[in-house]
Amino acid sequence: MKQRPTFPAQLKPGAVAPKVKVPLHPPQIPQGVGMDSSATRQRMVQKIAAQGVRDPFVLGALGSVERHRFVDSALANQAYEETSLPIGLGQTISKPGVVARMAELLRNGCAGKLGRVLEIGTGCGYQAAVLAMLADEVYSIERLRGLHDKARENLRTMRLANLHLLFGDGMQGYPKGAPYAAIIAAAGGATVPQAWIDQLAMGGRLVAPVVAAESGGGRAAGAAQALLVLDKTQQGVHQTVLEAVHFVPLKSGVA
Ligand code: SAH
Repeated sequence: MKQRPTFPAQLKPGAVAPKVKVPLHPPQIPQGVGMDSSATRQRMVQKIAAQGVRDPFVLGALGSVERHRFVDSALANQAYEETSLPIGLGQTISKPGVVARMAELLRNGCAGKLGRVLEIGTGCGYQAAVLAMLADEVYSIERLRGLHDKARENLRTMRLANLHLLFGDGMQGYPKGAPYAAIIAAAGGATVPQAWIDQLAMGGRLVAPVVAAESGGGRAAGAAQALLVLDKTQQGVHQTVLEAVHFVPLKSGVA
């Protein structure tokens, strides 16, 4: 019998059945990056550090998670380059430098591990694995069944007991895990859903791409996004808009 992984599966009983069937890729060790990927990964980490990421926890996590296991074997030779790559169903894995930058913002200089973290947009599961090294518990939610299943398969051998993969609409957050010390989104919408702010702990931080103020370009596809950092404090919610980013759109519902 096939062994199922140990992650709790469903966000909601009776979640909508998948419309698209995506074949699961067997675990793979691509040629050229398999056994000795460590040196290649350390070079990637050095470049990320040179871009300005300083947090040793973040650099350590990026140095240990094998990014080549999360992309198609045909793309594995690009896994440690500063590039986003397709992961199926029209979605992409973020550039490693962007994952590092967002993780550093999320940690906000925290002395140890973060508490509970919510990630919206599991995708292939790479960032979820990185976050699992930086937090006590990670809840990662994906709205596309095909990617949720793929992430589960990609993560199976890592056996990250503190990572919980959920299938559902992340725009609602995941109230059962709230309050969260940190919330991170890997997909960008026009605004930050109120549910995320409600589910953020007092003193918690949210990092998400949001569609930036329009600069004459209208609402055409590919509208400009910027990274938003939101801190929830006793005095209220403080928002800081940082550099331009390019993420897939945040969508409601499941598919
Ligand atoms: N962190 C991912 C990046 C995946 S891309 C990785 O490391 O691979 C962003 C993902 O967000 C896509 O898979 C997309 O399907 C998902 N997404 C978009 N809107 C969502 C929503 N409302 N709830 C959950 N996931 C969503």
